[in-house]
Amino acid sequence: MRKPVIAGNWKMNKTKLESIKLVTELKNLLPRTVAADIIVAPPFTALTYVFEAISGSSIALAAQNCHWEDSGAYTGEVSPPMLKDLGCRYVILGHSERRQYFGETDSSVNKKLKAVLRSELIPIICVGESLEERKKRETFSIVEGQIKRGLASLTSTEFNEIIIAYEPIWAIGTGETATPAQAQEVHQLIRKVLGELFGGRNAAEIRIQYGGSVKADNVAELMAQEDIDGALVGGASLEARSFAEIIRFKSGD
Ligand code: PEP
Repeated sequence: MRKPVIAGNWKMNKTKLESIKLVTELKNLLPRTVAADIIVAPPFTALTYVFEAISGSSIALAAQNCHWEDSGAYTGEVSPPMLKDLGCRYVILGHSERRQYFGETDSSVNKKLKAVLRSELIPIICVGESLEERKKRETFSIVEGQIKRGLASLTSTEFNEIIIAYEPIWAIGTGETATPAQAQEVHQLIRKVLGELFGGRNAAEIRIQYGGSVKADNVAELMAQEDIDGALVGGASLEARSFAEIIRFKSGD
């Protein structure tokens, strides 16, 4: 049974005080126990403050990126041990905005993945196709390639520690969501590819999040799909009430 995992990616938003306010509001809106793992990924500058604010709650901390070395002459970069030191438990890797604007490739994702695992952090590895690629019916080959190159030479033991996020680029920040059937189709493919690489039993246990304009009114039908185990949420995680509603997607929580 895969436990749902809902993560909020704040991107380059929120100052120190705004971050504390947002996460405190979120904390107050959540019930004591939630049937999902809850993660927030503030900008680097707010990690320490958010970590203090979530203390004693079920919310965990993620970074949005990292370097692949533990330390060294890499001006402006932040390493996995530094993130661990600040209380991070997860690191988002290969987000399409990093691939699009900052030259992230499957090869750099792979190096970062190894570094994150070395520091005993949990990587959330993002994959997804562009609109052009979807129109050309290349979705499966693009996503399969990203998975194979991004996870290259990972051991089965390491594999069990990771989370995958399928984020079709055309659905990120656009208000356009993949239909549950479109999303499920790709999630199923991802699980099949993972099964070929790491064995069916391991692949059956891995959590695959969907990301792309997830909101309170579409999360339930997405999460009802067999291979969708959570959501990576951008815009709707910047407001406590909307993110809390997404987290409480199962009535009764
Ligand atoms: C994201 O940035 O990972 C994302 C899915 O953004 P949004 O929810 O705003 O589409």
